[in-house]
Amino acid sequence: MSATTGAMHLTRRSATELATAIAAGEVTAREVTDEHLARIDAVDGSIHAFLHVDYEGARAQADAVDAKRAAGGPLGPLAGVPVALKDVFTQKGVPTTAGSRILEGWRPPYDSTVVSRLRDADCVILGKTNMDEFAMGSSTEHSGYGPTHNPWDTDRIPGGSGGGSAAAVAAFEAPLAIGTDTGGSIRQPASVTGTVGVKPTYGGVSRFGLIALASSLDQAGPCARSVMDAALLHQALAGHDPKDSTSLDLEVPDVVAAAKRADVRGMRIGLVSQLSGDGYQPGVRQRFDEAVEILTNLGAEPVEVSCPNFEYALAAYYLILPSEASSNLARFDGMRFGIRVGDDGDANVEEVMSATRAAGFGDEVKRRIMLGTYALSSGYYDAYYGQAQKVRTLIARDFDAAFSEVDVLLSPTAPTTAFKLGEKLDDPLAMYLNDVATIPVNLAGNAAMSLPIGLAPEDGLPVGLQIMAPSMADDRLYNVGAALETALRDKWGHLLIEEAPAL
Ligand code: GLN
Repeated sequence: MSATTGAMHLTRRSATELATAIAAGEVTAREVTDEHLARIDAVDGSIHAFLHVDYEGARAQADAVDAKRAAGGPLGPLAGVPVALKDVFTQKGVPTTAGSRILEGWRPPYDSTVVSRLRDADCVILGKTNMDEFAMGSSTEHSGYGPTHNPWDTDRIPGGSGGGSAAAVAAFEAPLAIGTDTGGSIRQPASVTGTVGVKPTYGGVSRFGLIALASSLDQAGPCARSVMDAALLHQALAGHDPKDSTSLDLEVPDVVAAAKRADVRGMRIGLVSQLSGDGYQPGVRQRFDEAVEILTNLGAEPVEVSCPNFEYALAAYYLILPSEASSNLARFDGMRFGIRVGDDGDANVEEVMSATRAAGFGDEVKRRIMLGTYALSSGYYDAYYGQAQKVRTLIARDFDAAFSEVDVLLSPTAPTTAFKLGEKLDDPLAMYLNDVATIPVNLAGNAAMSLPIGLAPEDGLPVGLQIMAPSMADDRLYNVGAALETALRDKWGHLLIEEAPAL
């Protein structure tokens, strides 16, 4: 094949197809990697999905896979498949910033478990993707390094905080990416870029080496262009890790088998009445209703479900998250990691810490540190943090009650399609409202997927549907997601992402 048609061809192929072609020797891991690197060179100037492209490291990993194959060694399940990594995971020797100026120049001395698992699967890590600073945001505009642009319309946001990972996948710069989801940062970017994103069950994927935002909520997961691709990556990442005390020592549900099953006959699907009413864009609701109708025609039974405490989820989240974040971010003190400001020989430690944090943190991070410090301060702790924890329990009980009636719950992933860059930047509350449907899952610790269900008629932009499942029932997401994806692909003749305007 010629270099040009090959480039088009390989970057358009799914992770599943690439893994099969590499294993069969039809193409080398090096060719696949080089063509994705060329694609990044060609389009990332207008997307800015990457903060760092690891040309040398990626080529060396690809060559190692090819050498292993030539020697007849056993290959990992995603051997030679390129993956983009959200810049919140440590990777030994590779710049890691969490989207913050405070970590500029820091090269971690160790690999996160997510990186180790990618290496075990023989994946090729292309580089680090852009994100809102310390994963605080829904648009990637809070990155200390400039925003990422949505490949469907570069004047629009790619979602956040993992907008870089979602945009890299949507722009065919990488077939797979890793995100993290504390309140929706995998699912909302997936929704607005027409890609698939999964937040696994809390404790399903190790947090070791993940720079913490809110430790009781953070979870890493896959970004992909299809449900099966997401399943393969999910399977490679998941499983117990003794280095993370919250990692679950349970058998990982077989998400790949579930994606193959794709059969919803007899399943009860709950429609959460609190998550689809006013405040949702009409085109989002229209596509959502059509998707429910498709699942019904496939043999699922829709059931209206009420989760009354979801109404308080956003308020509880914005007390719990800042409280945990203010404590987690105390480690960025100008002494141990990244930049140091004001160390002129006369300044004392407190002055250097203060100058470093003032210079290194952006406005949103400072806002949340102040909110969290206030919510945890003596005299206010019970009224704010304590109350929010009680609401969290009530939300978990709403889920338990719902899941005693139905197998999965459905809602639109985000209230609107991708909005314009700058539109919500000066209005924190408007920005926070993007996550109204995704946050309940993080508070309860269960699993959820966003998958593309079409374009909103009024603006021609992608709409995402959220599937929620009980803790450790991640396989249900893939079963329902794959059934819906297959039906939609049969209807359209292709996957939605193939309609993304070519860049
Ligand atoms: N947008 C949410 C927030 O700003 C979610 C962030 C996340 O999941 N990391 O907190």
